[in-house]
Amino acid sequence: MTNSIDIIHWIDANQQRFIDISDKIWEYAEIRFEEVKSAKLQIEVLEEEGFEVTRGVADMPTAFVASYGKEGPIIAVLGEYDALSGLSQKAGVFEKTPVEEGASGHGCGHNLLGAGSLAAAIAVKNYLESHKIPGIIQYYGCPGEEGGSGKTYMVREGLFDAVDIALCWHPFSTNFIFNLSSLSNIQVYFRFKGISAHAAAAPHMGRSALDAVELMNIGANYLREHIITQARLHYAVTNTGGNAPNVVQADAEVLYLIRAPTILQTKEIYERVKKIAKGAALMTETEVEIIFDKAASNLIPNDIVGEVLFEKFKEVGAPQYTEEEIEYGKKLRQTFNKGEVPELNTFGAFKEELGEDMIEKIKTKIIFDDILPNTLPEFTLPGSTDVGDVSWVVPTSQIGTSCVILGTPGHSWQEVTQCTTSISHKGMIAAAKVMALTALEFVENIELVNEAKAELNMRLGSTKYESPIASEVKPNVPKWVFEAMK
Ligand SMILES: [Zn+2]
Repeated sequence: MTNSIDIIHWIDANQQRFIDISDKIWEYAEIRFEEVKSAKLQIEVLEEEGFEVTRGVADMPTAFVASYGKEGPIIAVLGEYDALSGLSQKAGVFEKTPVEEGASGHGCGHNLLGAGSLAAAIAVKNYLESHKIPGIIQYYGCPGEEGGSGKTYMVREGLFDAVDIALCWHPFSTNFIFNLSSLSNIQVYFRFKGISAHAAAAPHMGRSALDAVELMNIGANYLREHIITQARLHYAVTNTGGNAPNVVQADAEVLYLIRAPTILQTKEIYERVKKIAKGAALMTETEVEIIFDKAASNLIPNDIVGEVLFEKFKEVGAPQYTEEEIEYGKKLRQTFNKGEVPELNTFGAFKEELGEDMIEKIKTKIIFDDILPNTLPEFTLPGSTDVGDVSWVVPTSQIGTSCVILGTPGHSWQEVTQCTTSISHKGMIAAAKVMALTALEFVENIELVNEAKAELNMRLGSTKYESPIASEVKPNVPKWVFEAMK
């Protein structure tokens, strides 16, 4: 059996190192596929620790796989480290104050996600080394989770083919086993090309690409009524064609994000959205170019992995908070809480499964300091993650740990401002311990690995994994990043 005390002590004794890494990544705040400094920092630490690092995998310079150990079960810990554009925000303050106007910020806590997973991988490596236990621990440096689907490209490349178990976590405002499903998605640009002309003097000479975008969106909005209710359709006009109303817009572009519970459903809706785009082009006598950006599959939960995570989480225990931290939370909460606790939208329906007292804690606490029982029925979260693709090829499960105060809106300045506080650090360290203990459990218990694999096979049945991204589509990485990572 694993000596849990060794692992927990090691992480406690070394926590400042990983807190510093997390805070640095928070400061770098690099967006999808541009995580140059964040990737370099982690690679440096992993190489110092004796991991073998393969850099720039799957056509993404900031993606890497770090591996330690020669034989035994292969356990992968997934790390993310990308920020969100436009969310620049000073740390630990109570109002929206960007560090730099328009710059990016860690509004999803991925600075914690990467550093926490890194701590888990290194703790496991030290344990395997000092106890001379066979087993392979890998840290997957996964870029571009936000709008990039980095992991989907890594899965397509076959980088997870030999992995036995994959573990991940995400900062949340509660502690729970994130053994749920998520929506699959496809993101696509529709670029229309028309003919410019003087909008008053020669309107008949012009063919408006902006008209095509508008008509396409109208078509898509009518489509909504005739797709399954769990599906989601969002769009952003990424090029309006300019600011001059007296010019017929010759170029315009709209970015669509299509989601549904399974990737097959998403693909079906995508085919229908393409017809609408072609129809809009036909109506406006413009041309449309369809540029596939990225996609992610739905998550396949794994109860065997989820149960081990839960047992280890109970062993580690939920972080506890000081009066000072709670006071900080109360003050920050005034900036967003209007008597509503959005977490109740997710968990409130499961009073019976979670117990009245847990629901009461979510309702009344400032910072969640307990662990939700692992009794949630399987449901689909109304969001997407590229962990989904990993979960189709490797038994995978995740945890959420309390890193921000209850009620914190995701992707907000309030989330960015908290992600370097002791509240966040505590959640990150707890996640590192739980994942490290879980990884070791699987290293030492091959029977359990086989059970998790059997569960995955059972869940997939005869459905084979097919990458939702066609082989000719490459990750949308800016050219300068290839140079910068050399
Ligand atoms: Zn996230």
